[in-house]
Amino acid sequence: MAGLAERQTRFLADLIAIRSYTGQEGPAVERTLAELRAVGCDEVWRDSAGNALGRVGHGPRLLLYDAHLDTNEVADESEWPHPPLQPTVENGVMFGLGASDCKGGVAAIVYAAALLKALKLEGEFSVVVMGATLEEDAEGFALRSLVERDGLRPEAVLLAEATNLSLRRGQRGRCELRVRTTGRAAHASQPHLGESALLKMLPVIQALEAMNPGLPAHPVFGPSTQVVSLIEGPHTPNSVPSWCEVAVDRRMAPGESLASVLGGVQAVVGPLGASARVPDQPVRTHTGLALDGPSFFPGWFLEDGHPLLASGLAAGQALWGRAPEVGVWRFSTDGTYSAGAAGIPTLGLGPQEEQYVHAANDQVDLEKVRQAALFYALFPLFYVS
Ligand SMILES: [Zn+2]
Repeated sequence: MAGLAERQTRFLADLIAIRSYTGQEGPAVERTLAELRAVGCDEVWRDSAGNALGRVGHGPRLLLYDAHLDTNEVADESEWPHPPLQPTVENGVMFGLGASDCKGGVAAIVYAAALLKALKLEGEFSVVVMGATLEEDAEGFALRSLVERDGLRPEAVLLAEATNLSLRRGQRGRCELRVRTTGRAAHASQPHLGESALLKMLPVIQALEAMNPGLPAHPVFGPSTQVVSLIEGPHTPNSVPSWCEVAVDRRMAPGESLASVLGGVQAVVGPLGASARVPDQPVRTHTGLALDGPSFFPGWFLEDGHPLLASGLAAGQALWGRAPEVGVWRFSTDGTYSAGAAGIPTLGLGPQEEQYVHAANDQVDLEKVRQAALFYALFPLFYVS
């Protein structure tokens, strides 16, 4: 397998050297498609939203392995120990932009496909490997497109985001709400002729903050929270403001829906003369497709004893002689769509470490990338048995 390990490292270095900010993933997608062909996938394609996909196996039980190709943007290059797009290996660790989020994960799942082919591991399963797009700005949107537009229906999803080779069984959700008051504009020299939307907003902000102790709670994630994070109005300092809008950042327990969140907020702000909505997030793929949708990212949690979780524990036990730890993510992932919206059982395991995600010392341990590939290659055997 030494040959495969070297090829995996080279592939990861190539991916890091390709800039792939959200919505500009085209060259990284092409590079991933070339690697999926080179490792011998039975089918390789780019879907309508521009995700890179490769399938191995012909069995009826379909597993999807997802890791995203887009990275967040470099804020200050001078803080980086090495140039962000110049992959550098030191002591078995590769440094570079996206190493930990999430290109190390892409290298792991693509080389799981390589291992499945090289070792002729076959069974009642098929595995589709997805080099996903759009995750940093609109997690889940590209995966939703693959499932709902292109009709790929996996029975389970594995996410190769950062977990340091432990298992992740869920995440909190998040959404943005917009709450608006309206008044009547008038010249600021005669304010009695107008009605200030800003003054109407004051009790609304207090009411939104006061909702916090009553929000739903989850035994693992704790209580949901919301924060009034932004306030806007007309940019006319010499007028009584005719409208005022605040943004509310809401973090949600699994099980909260768009209807339940919006309904709860509307019930509080409606009697104060305000209205609430969940805005649409504008999303455009690198192929030019518009995928705008509500800025709503539900949470999810895989329950104890679920076969997907049990298979992850068994595969880890077989590989490492001990069951991997099980936890939840602090950040949001494509699981917000697969598990949160579509109800497809979802589990996380990745070689990367959370401490390096979106950090200037972005890095991934190459031995962990190899171990994650082994895990992903073994996983289907445990899952279907
Ligand atoms: Zn990520």
